[in-house]
Amino acid sequence: MKMYFATIPGSALKVRSRESYYARQTRLFVLVVILVPLIPLLFISWTASHFYQKSWMAKTTIELTSLANSRREIIDLFLDSQENSLAGYAELYDLAWLSTPGNLEKLFQAMNRQGVIVDLGLITKDGSHRNYVGPFAEDLKDKNYAEARWFAEVMQSGRYTSDVFSGYRGVPHFIVAVTDPTRSWVLRATINSELFNALLASAEVGPGGDAFILNRQGELQTPSRLGLTALPAGEKGLLNAGGDLTIHHSQSALYATTGMKNNAWTLVLKTDIATSLADFYRARQRDHLIIAGAALLILAVSTFLVRSMMNKVKGADQQRMVLYDRIRYSEKMALIGRMAANVAHEINNPLQIIGDQAGWLDELLNEEDQDRLKNSEEYRAAFAKIRAQVKRASTITHRLLGFSRSSDGLKSPTNINSLVEETISFLEKEATNHRIAIRRILDPSLPEVTTDSTQLQQVLLNILNNAFDAIGNDGAVTISTSLSDGQLAVEFADSGPGLSEEALKKVFDPFFTTKKAGCGTGIGLSISYSIVERLGGRIEVRNGKQGGCVFRVNLPVAPQ
Ligand code: ADP
Repeated sequence: MKMYFATIPGSALKVRSRESYYARQTRLFVLVVILVPLIPLLFISWTASHFYQKSWMAKTTIELTSLANSRREIIDLFLDSQENSLAGYAELYDLAWLSTPGNLEKLFQAMNRQGVIVDLGLITKDGSHRNYVGPFAEDLKDKNYAEARWFAEVMQSGRYTSDVFSGYRGVPHFIVAVTDPTRSWVLRATINSELFNALLASAEVGPGGDAFILNRQGELQTPSRLGLTALPAGEKGLLNAGGDLTIHHSQSALYATTGMKNNAWTLVLKTDIATSLADFYRARQRDHLIIAGAALLILAVSTFLVRSMMNKVKGADQQRMVLYDRIRYSEKMALIGRMAANVAHEINNPLQIIGDQAGWLDELLNEEDQDRLKNSEEYRAAFAKIRAQVKRASTITHRLLGFSRSSDGLKSPTNINSLVEETISFLEKEATNHRIAIRRILDPSLPEVTTDSTQLQQVLLNILNNAFDAIGNDGAVTISTSLSDGQLAVEFADSGPGLSEEALKKVFDPFFTTKKAGCGTGIGLSISYSIVERLGGRIEVRNGKQGGCVFRVNLPVAPQ
C-alpha cells in the first residue's frame, strides 16, 4: 500500500545506485569478516606445518648421518677383521701344514665360530685348489682360478675383498682372500652373505626406507628392502666416489651416502619422506578440512549477520530519506505559506477598497436622476459583479492567511469524537441532498487532545468537503477514530474515484486542483497540511483497497 506524505523526490536511478551500494557494502563486510580470522588461521597452519617439516628434516638428517657413519664403521670393521684373521693364519701356517688333510678343517672351525664364512679354500700359485673345506667341494674341485680377476689382484696386492658375484657356484657371494708373505699360495674364504646382509638389515630407516650397498658400477651388493635389483637410472648420483658422507635431498626421499671398503663400495641409506610423514600429512589434511569448514561456517554466519545488519542500515536509510523528504516538503510549504500570506495581506487592502468603492458608486447611482440614466440596470449589474468577484477574491486571500496563522495560545482540551460529530453536522444537509451516507466508527475510549480545535475543524471540514465533491451523488464516507502508539488518528474513507499515482504525489501542493475552473482553488489541502504540521501531527493520503481515497490525520495525544 502506497502512502504519500508529500512529493517524493529521487529517481529510479538513485534507488538502483543505492541498491548496488548496499550490495557492494555487503560483499565488502562479508569479505572482511571472513578474511580477518581466516588469514591468521591459514598463516598459523602454514607456519606450524613448515616448522614441523623443517625440524623433521633436520632431525632425520642427523639420524641418517649417524646411522650411515655407524653402519660404515661396523661393515668396514667386519671386512677388516675377516681379512686380518685370514692374513694372520696365512702368516702362521705354511703350505705343507695347510695341505695336510684335516688341518684346513681345523682352521675353518676356528675361524667360523660365529658362522661368518661359508667355505675356506687353499689355492696354489697356478690357480688350482690344493685344499677346500665347505659345501661346494664337488663343484669347485676341478676349477682353476689362474684367469680369475680376483686371483690376479690378490697375487698382486696380497689382500683382496671382492664385490658380490655369482661365480661358478651360481649363488651371490663375496670372498676375502690373502696370500702368504711370499705370495706363493692363497687362502680364500667365502663370506656368509646372510650374516653380512644382517649388518644392514637392522638399520632403522623408517617405513618405505631402504639400506643397501653399491659397488662402483652401481650394482647392488646387498638386497634392497624395496626389492630393487639395480640402482635406478635417475639415482646414479648416489654413487659416492669421494667417500665422504653426503646427504642428498630429492622431492620424495632423503639419502645418506658414504664410501666404504676404501671407497670401492657406497653405503646408501634412504628415508622416504612421504611415507615417514604420512601421519603428518593426514593431520595436515584434517587441519585443512577443519579450516575449510570453519571458513564455510564463518561465511554463512557472516553473510547472515551482515545481511541483517545491512537490512537495518537500509531501513534506517529509507526512514531518513522519508524524513528528509518530509522536512523538505514542510520547508517548502512554510516558504510558500509565508509568501502566500504576504501576497494575501497586500492584496486584501486593494480588494477592500475596490469593494468599498463599488458599493459607494452603487449608492451614488441611487441618488442620480433615474430617468436621465439610460443604462442604470447595466451599471447596477456591473457593480454587483464587481462586489461578488471582490468577495470571492477576499475569501481566497482570507484562506491563504491560514498558512501563517499561529496556533499558539489557542489550544484547549478537545474531544476529537465530538469535533468530528460537529464537523459532520455542518455538512449533513448537503449529504442528504446528494444521497451520501456518512458512517462513523468512533473509538469511545479516545482521550482528550490539547489542540487548536478551530483549525483542526477547518482541516476535517476541508477533507470531508473534498470527499463529497469527489463522490458527487450516491456514495458513502466512513469516518473512523482510533488510538495507537500515543497517536490519535482520524480517517476519512470515501467511495469516490480515488486519485491517480501522479495526483497522489501532488495533492498537498498549493494550487493543485482537479476541480473545474471557479470551483476549486487547490489551497485547501496545502493549508490543511500546514495546520496539521503546526499542531505536531501528520496528514497522509492513499487509495483505499476498495477504491476511493483515504485521508488520515494523525495527532499526538500529549501536547508537543
Ligand atoms: P480544491 O478542493 O480547492 O481543489 P484542495 O487542496 O482541497 O483544493 O484539493 C486539491 C485536489 O485534491 C482536489 O482538486 C482534488 O483533485 C483532490 N482531492 C482532494 N480530496 C479528494 C478526494 N477525497 N477524492 C479525490 N480527489 C480529491
